Amino acid sequence: MHGVDSVVDYDVIIVGGGPAGSTAARRASQAGLSVVVFDKARFPRYKPCAGGIQFGVNDLLDFDIKSISQRTISGITMFAPSGFRVDCIPENRSMPGSSIKREDFDHLLLKKAAEAGAEIREDTLIAKAREEESRAVVTTKEGEEVTGMYLVGADGINSIVAKSLGFYDGWQGDSTMVAIEIEAEVGSSTVREICGEPSGYNADLILLYFGGLSHGYVWCFPKRSVLSLGACCRQDRGGELKPAYEKWYAAFKDEYSIEPQILSDTAARFPIEPAGDIVKGRTILVGDAAGLVDPFTGEGIPEAIESGILASSALSKAVKEANPRFLKQYEKDCKREIISELKAIEFMANMFYKSRKNMETMCRFFRDDSYANFLIAAGIGGFLTKKALRRKMMLRMARKRPREAISLLL
Ligand SMILES: Cc1cc2nc3c(=O)[nH]c(=O)nc-3n(C[C@H](O)[C@H](O)[C@H](O)COP(=O)(O)OP(=O)(O)OC[C@H]3O[C@@H](n4cnc5c(N)ncnc54)[C@H](O)[C@@H]3O)c2cc1C
Repeated sequence: MHGVDSVVDYDVIIVGGGPAGSTAARRASQAGLSVVVFDKARFPRYKPCAGGIQFGVNDLLDFDIKSISQRTISGITMFAPSGFRVDCIPENRSMPGSSIKREDFDHLLLKKAAEAGAEIREDTLIAKAREEESRAVVTTKEGEEVTGMYLVGADGINSIVAKSLGFYDGWQGDSTMVAIEIEAEVGSSTVREICGEPSGYNADLILLYFGGLSHGYVWCFPKRSVLSLGACCRQDRGGELKPAYEKWYAAFKDEYSIEPQILSDTAARFPIEPAGDIVKGRTILVGDAAGLVDPFTGEGIPEAIESGILASSALSKAVKEANPRFLKQYEKDCKREIISELKAIEFMANMFYKSRKNMETMCRFFRDDSYANFLIAAGIGGFLTKKALRRKMMLRMARKRPREAISLLL
């Protein structure tokens, strides 16, 4: 279906076929819009990512991802700066998460967009984008121009759409995290030995190590026979990243007497602050391009998918009414459903990462107070919104450990 302007090639052009772009494409196609997705890569493509998928993602998607799940994840384990361990596992384990490889996950999502009718153009880099009075225009690296009524920037943290259309120039050092990640082949029994639940329950945990980095952490995420081992920290503290990671990695190999085969070794960034504008004229930003990532954990896949869903509903209305004003609905929905949640968790992240002392105090509280431990587990399991988690956690700490609660803020 094309709107009033018959000179456009598509109703919607989407730049980027990651989780945000492919979800927006699937949903917009299902609503009857003509959609094209451009991605500079050919899928399946590798993407640096720990590959942890919260249970809530299953509710957002309208298809099953079991076929590509690597492992069932039942909770998280935090290692405090002083080294003690805190397991946070939802009690009845009824809403487990999973681990995936992004080459499988993103490929599946893109195939689902194609299945719904979206045209997918891989291996096609968009070099620039602009708006004309009644349409948006993107130009490929080869110089081809493609027009649409509306444009979606789903092209990640270095979004060319956002830059071309003046949303932002780039990201400040305190609004992004830098990360390094290796994929380490260790064999499936070693994955279970390192990440398996200590209780023997048939599921694995994701491991987070705090204290080696002043605003960040080291992770160990289980895949079938591979571990994703990595570290991230705020970009303005990026100098700490490599030395802290190397020190941790040497100790980790020692502890488990392993010498993994390294399958990949990459670096990447992700934003931890929503962009000032996410809608302008005929263009909207989704996922990492819009800065929609949890600043505590670095998870952005649920937000990417949810923003894609919200975007498709505003796009659908804007196409039907032939009026870009309806895109503003996306901004409202996104603020209410995603950004307010990210802001709630940003408060906790800032408090937690403020100092080693704060990390230690909070980890101790999560270990010793069973309700606090339950809250973290419920947050991970998707039973609690981030707003509810923050409110309940702060209240609990103020009631049970008032002096420590005050010290966290000083
Ligand atoms: C090291 C690391 C670990 C992470 N671990 C997790 C995790 O465990 N769980 C979690 O939930 N989140 C994690 N994240 C965050 C998550 O990866 C992102 O939030 C998520 O990928 C955002 O999806 P997206 O679709 O917005 O962007 P992306 O997945 O980045 O997709 C953008 C797409 O746009 C394409 N593209 C870019 N520029 C152009 C262009 N000019 N022309 C055409 N195509 C273009 C790219 O090829 C890419 O396919 C991690 C991030 C990093 C860096």
